[in-house]
Amino acid sequence: YCASTRSFRSLRPPVPLPPPDAPLSFPSFALSLLPSPLPAHPALLDAATGASVSFPAFLAQARALARALRADAGLGLRRGDVAFVLAPARLDVPVLYFALLSVGAVASPANPALTAGEVARLVAISGASVAFAVSSTAAKLPAGLRTVLLDSDQFRTFLRSNPDEEALDDAVVEVRQSDTAAIQYSSGTTGRVKAAALPHRSFVAMTAGLAPGHEDRVLIGAPMFHSLGFCFTLRGVALGQTLVVMTDAAARGGVEGVVAAAERWGVVEMTAAPPVVVGMATRERREMKSLQRVICGGAPLPDAAARRFRQRFPHVELRVGYGSTEGGGISLMIGREECNRIGSVGRISENVEVKIVDHVTGKPLSVGQRGELLVRGPAVMSGYVGDEEANATAFDSEGWLKTGDLCYIDQDGFLFIVDRLKELIKYKGYQVPPAELELILQSLPEVVDAAVMPYPHEEAGQIPIALVVRQPGSKVTESEVIEHVAERVAPYKKIRKVLFVDSIPKSPAGKILRRQLMNYVQFGAVSR
Ligand code: AMP
Repeated sequence: YCASTRSFRSLRPPVPLPPPDAPLSFPSFALSLLPSPLPAHPALLDAATGASVSFPAFLAQARALARALRADAGLGLRRGDVAFVLAPARLDVPVLYFALLSVGAVASPANPALTAGEVARLVAISGASVAFAVSSTAAKLPAGLRTVLLDSDQFRTFLRSNPDEEALDDAVVEVRQSDTAAIQYSSGTTGRVKAAALPHRSFVAMTAGLAPGHEDRVLIGAPMFHSLGFCFTLRGVALGQTLVVMTDAAARGGVEGVVAAAERWGVVEMTAAPPVVVGMATRERREMKSLQRVICGGAPLPDAAARRFRQRFPHVELRVGYGSTEGGGISLMIGREECNRIGSVGRISENVEVKIVDHVTGKPLSVGQRGELLVRGPAVMSGYVGDEEANATAFDSEGWLKTGDLCYIDQDGFLFIVDRLKELIKYKGYQVPPAELELILQSLPEVVDAAVMPYPHEEAGQIPIALVVRQPGSKVTESEVIEHVAERVAPYKKIRKVLFVDSIPKSPAGKILRRQLMNYVQFGAVSR
């Protein structure tokens, strides 16, 4: 605890970072970490087929693609151009990420399960000038957006090096650490989805100081477009790990498929959202002999599941971590020797500072007191793109990022998340912003008002349910309402239950009183 700033610092020694003004792209930083000669094991391995990409091939493909992206005959991408990526996990996606970042372009991956309407909004807020998709997702992109298909011959030629053009590599683009490397989509603490910009320095900070695990096979259970999957993918290459990629075919197996792939490919470390850990703790019969470590984050992991997991797999370290898209990777994590601290999301990561404040008065709090978690550090986003209003509420006056999570820290520096103050619903770790669904509900002519709230669910963590006020005399049914929303959103955002009510509790200013919604449901405001 630092009395002068009234904040908490990491107990672990700080990790030195390159000077912030030194020009450095994340891919150059990654190259500087890789050993020479390059690791002999593969960089990427397809969990479904076993196909692999070696480190030399990965770097050669990324270099060839970077050249093609810049060449006018290719795409003519320039520093700062935003490339929207709408594709399932494939071995060429990490190559694409590296190539984009190395020429100073911005990678902006999104969930391929989104609908065309949702995609159009993301493209608009990120200002993407080009898109990378596959044949099955391209139709969701707005007309007129220049699109390259990853499953096309053109893209395959881009990946092939041409010795005549090697010389062009000398004309490297100067990328500053403050340049945006990625735009990721998140609704933050309130409202609709926004475009969070993460600079190269954020990814440098997330990777610096980590021990390269040269022989480690790592499986990233989080999808590659999600902030956590994206950062672990970039990081894995930099650390010389073999990434076992849950490609489309492999991912279809759901939780069961993730665990089967981990066993089949002798995975040592697995990153997973709570449903995977819950599934393993309750149903898994495999021994998972190679598995040494599971990193679990993205949503709360129930204590009972953590306990059961530890009993079932005593040889596996269950390391819970806490992070957010805006916070840049993992802000808190349980250390190797700390796995018995069930319920905590860990201690403060290196280089990260934490402040806990009374969420009404903003007053900083000390050990044991519950308040909103604020974070600061080199990995935090630079801000939401083109949304000054959102930036003004996302950060406090001293530049601390407000997480919207209610927490306390104990004497030993372990942090506990006790509730979520923000509007967000997390379904299996995926973000479901209530404001987005409320807008869709309100577009139904027979709906006078609507509010969407989280409802506890054993496996998914939370499911979105809707409170709906019908027009007098309206007979619109629950299934009609559910269907109306389902047609307009990705499957994971679907409303799973509708309760018809007489009114929605609101403040005098007309804001939904979200913290009252649960009482409202429990104490019978439901109309007949
Ligand atoms: P996202 O930006 O999608 O990664 O979501 C970040 C949010 O997920 C955080 O602000 C928390 O509300 C929640 N979250 C992430 N990790 C944890 C965790 N270990 N325990 C509880 N909530 C978490």
